[in-house]
Amino acid sequence: MFTGRNRRSGSLRSVWYRRERKRRPREVSTQTNTLQPVSPPRPRPVPIEGHWQCGNPDAMIRCLVRLATDPRIVFHLPIQTVERKLRLFYCACCRIRWDSLSPSCRNAIVTVERYADGWENRRGLHKARRAVQDVGRVVRAIPYSQDQWDARSLIALVERAAEVPTRFRTGVICGGYPVQATTQAVLLRDLFDNPFRPYSVEPRWITPTVVALARVIYSERSFDLMPILADALQDAGCDDEYILTHCRGHEDVSSPVQSSHARGCWLIDAILGKE
Ligand SMILES: [Zn+2]
Repeated sequence: MFTGRNRRSGSLRSVWYRRERKRRPREVSTQTNTLQPVSPPRPRPVPIEGHWQCGNPDAMIRCLVRLATDPRIVFHLPIQTVERKLRLFYCACCRIRWDSLSPSCRNAIVTVERYADGWENRRGLHKARRAVQDVGRVVRAIPYSQDQWDARSLIALVERAAEVPTRFRTGVICGGYPVQATTQAVLLRDLFDNPFRPYSVEPRWITPTVVALARVIYSERSFDLMPILADALQDAGCDDEYILTHCRGHEDVSSPVQSSHARGCWLIDAILGKE
């Protein structure tokens, strides 16, 4: 017959087991149960010039951001410059579709351009961003249809231009679909030239006439004056074919987009000392 004492103590084996556990503390196993990686993670490959030359705007933007943020690479453009130029790139894409933009989006783009040049503070940028997001909410509230694809991608492009700076620094923002990929690639090359082969403008070419012309071109966005800038540079002693061709455009008339310029053009920025 079992008594209460027997029920509490249990069988002889379990009593012995409990006593032994008290006497001998549990041994700590040296082997951890977590899975160990077979080999250490491979470092991300360093961007190469081929990523920039591929002509895919998404890949080009990722390449730029990684060039500016990868500590293994010595890059001549600081991340602030990359952010400014990328912002101007999105604004240039939006200006290509200027006629399709609503007045509030146009105002936002003007504000974003002012912010990129330091003439507007962060508060103004956030205000512009909120205005664009309000428009985006209205656009996205309409049931989706084939025709609405363009409106949605266009508002997404304006939103990208008005993004907060940290989004540019992590490279999560990529190209805009309402503008052709080839046009975007040409604009990126105009703004950044070739980041793997930085080109410099000799100080002796930067005469007051050249600076005055570049300032007019930049502020009024009058890129039709670029050939005149080439003449002024030649008068100042510039005989660099690369720079003169950039101003005058390529001889190849079959590709008119080859000679397009935008605010943030690397040559104008170099003459005006903008970063
Ligand atoms: Zn240019």
